[in-house]
Amino acid sequence: AGSLTPAPSAGTPPADAPAARGGLIEIRGVRKSFGDLEVLRGIDLTLPPGSVTAILGPSGSGKSTLLRSINHLEPVTQGLISVDGEIIGYRRDGDLLHELHEKEVLRQRTAIGMVFQSFNLFAHMTAVQNVAEAPRRALGVPKAAAEARARELLALVGLEDKLDVYPRQLSGGQQQRVAIARALALEPKVLLFDEPTSALDPELVEEVLAVIRDLARAGTTLVIVTHEISFARDVADTVVFMDRGVIVEQGPPSQVIDHPSHERTRTFLQRVR
Ligand code: ADP
Ligand code: MG
Repeated sequence: AGSLTPAPSAGTPPADAPAARGGLIEIRGVRKSFGDLEVLRGIDLTLPPGSVTAILGPSGSGKSTLLRSINHLEPVTQGLISVDGEIIGYRRDGDLLHELHEKEVLRQRTAIGMVFQSFNLFAHMTAVQNVAEAPRRALGVPKAAAEARARELLALVGLEDKLDVYPRQLSGGQQQRVAIARALALEPKVLLFDEPTSALDPELVEEVLAVIRDLARAGTTLVIVTHEISFARDVADTVVFMDRGVIVEQGPPSQVIDHPSHERTRTFLQRVR
């Protein structure tokens, strides 16, 4: 409905909006409150294409809220986020200066894959059907083509022998690999992982990390919230340490993980190791 009416907010962003500076994702001065609780208190972050960013930090520091903001699941209270040069929301002093039309948000959300701690697969669908569902629904890909691609993606995550089984017949690690294949099915520009291994039995963690490592090597832009410190050191080119809604420090793993310059980072790393 109303599809012939241009969105009031569509068009040119305000002249003072910060320009994208080579980042696939640009986050500028982002603040987010839930009522009186400010959970993001001024976040600046640039994610170049092909980069792998690990976000570390204690529980409640705002990591999930930040990922959800990038994926349009949470509107920011203040600041700007752009994805691939498109500003998805921009507020200053509480005023909305620019916002994408709802339809554009949906389109852009398909360009951002997200993998959660809980895999959330459709219980009544096979692995292939789970992976093929979004391209069929969101992009209108014909069933046969979507399922053929689903089989390729499941092979990519090492599940070529589990194509036609239901989630309950899969281990947690296998279910999470189906969820990764499902996120890849929309050919996202960036893949966001929110503690992808936290719900897994310890012996199943590595098979999921191995898939993420492969994606990183293949040049996929990744943002990974994780408590797996050695994995973060291994796979990330940038490590971001968050605490209480701010980025305390960010830099290469050799700096942030091996030689943290802030006491809060040191304390956190000692606790999770
Ligand atoms: P993390 O992922 O680092 O553990 P979150 O981003 O989930 O942190 O949460 C940060 C803070 O925001 C927490 O205090 C949490 O309780 C609060 N919070 C998150 N989502 C909501 C919400 N929808 N409503 C109110 N408070 C929320
Ligand atoms: Mg979280």
